[in-house]
Amino acid sequence: ALAGIEHLYNLHWVGWPGGIVHDAARQKELKETLFNDYKYLPVFLTKKQIDDYYNGFSNSSLWPILHYMTTYTHYEDKWFEAYKTVNQLFAETILSFAHENDLLWIHDYHLMLLPALLKQRNPKLKIGFFLHTPFPSYEVFRCHPDREELLKGVLAADLVGFHTFGYLRHFRSAVLRLLSIESEINQIKYENHITHIGVFPIGIDAHKFEQEMNSRSYRKCRSDYNKIYEGKKLILCVERLDYTKGIPRRLDAIELFLSRYDEKDHIVFVFICVPSRGEVPEYQDLIELVERRVGEINGKYSTIKNVPIQFLHKSVPFSQLCALYTLADAALVTPLIDGMNLVAKEYIACQREKNGVLILSEFAGAAHELFNALVVNPYDIKQICDSIYQALTLTENYKKELIQPMKSRVMKFDSVHWSRSFINELSCLDISTDEIIPTRDVNIGTIKPFVKACNIALFLDYDGTLTEIVKNPADAYPHDDLRVLFSRLEKQETIDTYIISGRNCADMDQWFSTYSFTLIAEHGYYFKYAGQTSWSLVDTKADLSWKPAIIRIFELFTASTPGSVIEEKTSSVVWHYRRSDPEFGDWKANELVGELYEMASNLPVAIHRGKKIVEVCSTQINKGMAVEYFLHKHDYDAVLCAGDDETDENMFRLDHKQLVSIKIGNEDTLAQYKVSSPRLFRDYLKRALERNWFMEATTNE
Ligand code: UDP
Repeated sequence: ALAGIEHLYNLHWVGWPGGIVHDAARQKELKETLFNDYKYLPVFLTKKQIDDYYNGFSNSSLWPILHYMTTYTHYEDKWFEAYKTVNQLFAETILSFAHENDLLWIHDYHLMLLPALLKQRNPKLKIGFFLHTPFPSYEVFRCHPDREELLKGVLAADLVGFHTFGYLRHFRSAVLRLLSIESEINQIKYENHITHIGVFPIGIDAHKFEQEMNSRSYRKCRSDYNKIYEGKKLILCVERLDYTKGIPRRLDAIELFLSRYDEKDHIVFVFICVPSRGEVPEYQDLIELVERRVGEINGKYSTIKNVPIQFLHKSVPFSQLCALYTLADAALVTPLIDGMNLVAKEYIACQREKNGVLILSEFAGAAHELFNALVVNPYDIKQICDSIYQALTLTENYKKELIQPMKSRVMKFDSVHWSRSFINELSCLDISTDEIIPTRDVNIGTIKPFVKACNIALFLDYDGTLTEIVKNPADAYPHDDLRVLFSRLEKQETIDTYIISGRNCADMDQWFSTYSFTLIAEHGYYFKYAGQTSWSLVDTKADLSWKPAIIRIFELFTASTPGSVIEEKTSSVVWHYRRSDPEFGDWKANELVGELYEMASNLPVAIHRGKKIVEVCSTQINKGMAVEYFLHKHDYDAVLCAGDDETDENMFRLDHKQLVSIKIGNEDTLAQYKVSSPRLFRDYLKRALERNWFMEATTNE
């Protein structure tokens, strides 16, 4: 597919050259030849790696699962080890050669970990990844033991391409459900990296087919075959011998056709089945089955004049293939599932003198583009049989009408178009990895004195700000990394640290009471200075009489949303749906918020939509008011507020002469800065403490 663009770019190739080369001197010699003659950097594999990485993990584990064939999926731990090792070998080879501004385009399921391995070592490499197979539904992909690692590996690419929107949709769904990462239709933001995702249906090398059809060898083949098949209808099937191609079912349909219609003397089904993956047991079983069925059908329906199925278990030269494409009255392409299926497009490209009919499975990616094919369900034997009959009985004019628009499309959106559009999109991407980004034009003057301030307050939200959001809230206790940061903060004489959270007092006591921080719980309802034993109220007059009515509504939603729970705090009630299906949970949360707005319009409550929560609390209580309370009591030169969700926006609204506000996350915010993940925010705080600055990223000093 990339042959057509070799003259446009300075292309280099990295790949397993096939075979096994033990001898180091021979490897060296091959390396030089391949590089000099083909600009090819070989990655040599051992016999064991070929068994475990290629035949094992790639072709016996990933291939079947990506094609919905879960019953054919096998798994061995050592296969995944080999997969990691070989992906690493590719990474080493690439890193020894690639420069910062090079584009890397990684192809297919054999190298799903490679984008991450490369980015870890050099984040400035621009990386594209294209999946040539389908990406299955989340319900299928989730069966794979290494599903998270595989997804994370691919997500490290800057651009990920699929043949169809359906595959892209499944990929997004798997990322959401397995990694809890939300995405937009064309991009996925994860920490400070953006993975762009897109649909790039691959085309054929149309020019190569046109050229071949002007060659002498092609003309000779065509004239020979014309004689051989004179007076007969020719139906062509071309594919690798693979269980995804639906060959046994197709043979059943052919048998049905032969039994129904008296065409035995006049019809030939030619199968070109290219041998494939003979080392994998399922493929050995398949060839046995197919050969047996072909024998049975031919035994039953052959006549002295004709043998209805010609079965070639081999590859044929290009000129012969083109001649067969040209002469065939119909192509029967009925995979059970196929990423794209190039044979369908090649058949269309070869329709010149005749107007053949394409019978195409609706489960091939190509069915999304070849809209005038006779589209069939490959599981429906009767429908395939009927389509064969239909193909043989259409009028010439009608066949022409069907083929012409498809041919224009195949010739226009060819492999050159495909590769250029992917490469163009990849090269235009901005992959800068700034940690702290201003959200709008901020007045640098406000920030500068902050660096020098001698009396600073930090108001830091906890979940989603200092620590990552996790499925089980009890697991979000301060881990090692955070404890190191806390002990450094404690030692700062000029800094007062406030942990300001929506959590209840018990959680805050359990996790933070050993530090010399002021704790503010329940979004600003309670507070406690370091060393104190009891909690105090920020506002003693808050009205909480509305709580029972809200809890009743929450209970209804909990009953109808599996995985959701209610948390009752003193000053608020929270509906958590982190453990629910993410899309269903979001939908129910929207519904809940709608109902709350209706029923709570005259109650003194505020309704918050946070990260996988809906919270109702008193309007007399919010984080902004709590911060203000402390700013009145203490005279700070500078204040930093950081938070990740809507409840933190009240802090970002505050009016203080030297307020710096940072939002953790990528959503819209009133904060002056954004940082995309808690990890990056922790890193930022650590560095700020080490070097005694806070806003290096923006002061440019
Ligand atoms: N093909 C080949 N030799 C043959 C018959 C077919 O090289 O004897 C080629 C065919 O022209 C097509 C490819 O094999 O380009 C099959 O690609 P497809 O997308 O249809 O299926 P895949 O093998 O990728 O699953």
